[in-house]
Amino acid sequence: MVGGLSGSIPLVIAFNDLKRELAPLRSDLDAALARVLDSGWFALGEELKGFECEFAEYLGGGEVAGVANGTDALELALRALDVEPGDKVITAANAGGYASTAILACGAHPVYVDVDPETGLISPQHLGDDLLVSAKAIIITHLYGQMADMTILAQRARTANTFLVEDCAQAHGARLDGRAAGCWGDIACFSFYPTKNLGALGDAGAVFSTKKPYIEKVRHLRQYGWRDKYVHELRGGRNSRLDEIHAACLRTRLPTLESANLRRRAIGQRYQEGIAHPLIRVPRRRTDSSDVVHLYPVRCEQRSALMAHLRAEGIQTAIHYPLPDHLQPAWKSQVGSPSLPNTEKRAEEILSLPCHGALTDQEIDHVIDTCNRFRP
Ligand SMILES: *Cc1c(COP(=O)(O)O)cnc(C)c1O
Repeated sequence: MVGGLSGSIPLVIAFNDLKRELAPLRSDLDAALARVLDSGWFALGEELKGFECEFAEYLGGGEVAGVANGTDALELALRALDVEPGDKVITAANAGGYASTAILACGAHPVYVDVDPETGLISPQHLGDDLLVSAKAIIITHLYGQMADMTILAQRARTANTFLVEDCAQAHGARLDGRAAGCWGDIACFSFYPTKNLGALGDAGAVFSTKKPYIEKVRHLRQYGWRDKYVHELRGGRNSRLDEIHAACLRTRLPTLESANLRRRAIGQRYQEGIAHPLIRVPRRRTDSSDVVHLYPVRCEQRSALMAHLRAEGIQTAIHYPLPDHLQPAWKSQVGSPSLPNTEKRAEEILSLPCHGALTDQEIDHVIDTCNRFRP
């Protein structure tokens, strides 16, 4: 082996590497694409039906409606719950703005609560009962792959008579007490954007619920609000279909999700054990199935210096997310000025390290070693 260890480390450690990640599945994906081409049927067909059944079964039973993307999933889920103009919907301001987009699209008001400083998740502690009672719904995001404290949050939402929506776009296959993310609330939303733990070959999403009427409503809303063809019966409808080509790809990848999540957990553990630096705070993440390690953000007060140091060594990083929702230019005038100190402090310090299925142990160790050599 010429060059030994360092010689085989590639120049760039990409934040995502889908080409490499999908390579082992290439012939299966080719077959899935051929199946769709041969069928001559490209929207709302057998592949989607098959995926909806298989994904519902994977989650432990219920109903799935495929939609065009994860943001549509959130909006159509809120519409299925009859969220209307003027309603309050509680959410966190640190989860990428997708929930805010959906809430505002319904004409409802996002009400932000602060997050736990360590995990970035909504914790029962930051959620007042009066607020919960006043809201029509709460969206809990299982951020970075970590499940929120659903035992308590689901109980609190039930008592307050407030709908619980789970955003599982970063938590496909996470399980708390054996129960999957998505099965704790009234309705749940998934994105299958290519870089998610379960990704399509483009945009795709889904809504899940054990309550069939909600999913039937989403099935109407995703197709113009039609109940029968060309009869626009439901308000708030649109075109939001999950194409056959993506459904076929998702059916190919679903059986590999468990092993892919195990690999992500192993990467997270390797980072946790390896990074030891006084200026880099490694998150204390749970090592059980309640965390599927979609992203691995560390925290550092000298974030831009750390980012530059890693970049100089060929390591790509990203920030999830740099600007909280209540400070976003498009929204700040209409969402008031909530006090969210943990949210704002985290936004200044978080830095996501590469964390995807194609990473080798050697690459992870290079990231660890480079972090440990940080000298600002
Ligand atoms: C990716 C993501 C979404 C949105 O999904 P799209 O398919 O990109 O619309 C929603 N919520 C969270 C937490 C996400 O990570």
